[in-house]
Amino acid sequence: MRVGIGYDIHRIVVAIHPSSLIIGGVPIPSIYKTLAHSDGDVLLHALTDAMLGAFALGDIGQWFPDNKKENKGRSSSEFVVEVKRKLLELGWRVQQVDSVIFLEEPKLSPHSDKVRQSLARLLDCELSDISLKAKTMEGMGEIGRGEAIAAQVVLTLKPA
Ligand code: MG
Repeated sequence: MRVGIGYDIHRIVVAIHPSSLIIGGVPIPSIYKTLAHSDGDVLLHALTDAMLGAFALGDIGQWFPDNKKENKGRSSSEFVVEVKRKLLELGWRVQQVDSVIFLEEPKLSPHSDKVRQSLARLLDCELSDISLKAKTMEGMGEIGRGEAIAAQVVLTLKPA
């Protein structure tokens, strides 16, 4: 078994038009939008880093540089799928994921099963292998003020 950890944070701003935050590949209706080079999916970025970390393969910035044109506006699902393929080449696959989203609003609980399903589908895992928790910062710090969203992921790999 191998273990990986990932963390990501992105700035968010109040959107002028109806908008959504992309979390785990799922658009969540929100008054906020993310400011990012890609689709700003903090959960999938933390997940990608955890997958890379589990095999000491570097980090998401090395694999998918944010100064490269081809990564602009790119769906972060593609990052996960590409790294999943690399891990498979090495003979490993994701076994289990535990994750935390730090976000003041909107409430994630109505969407959490959808997000878990999305991760399970991306990683070829069972739904019961994917855990997602959401925390507010109770108004404290940049996340509490609604200026940022963050995610933490811990996962294990098993031989494919
Ligand atoms: Mg990121």
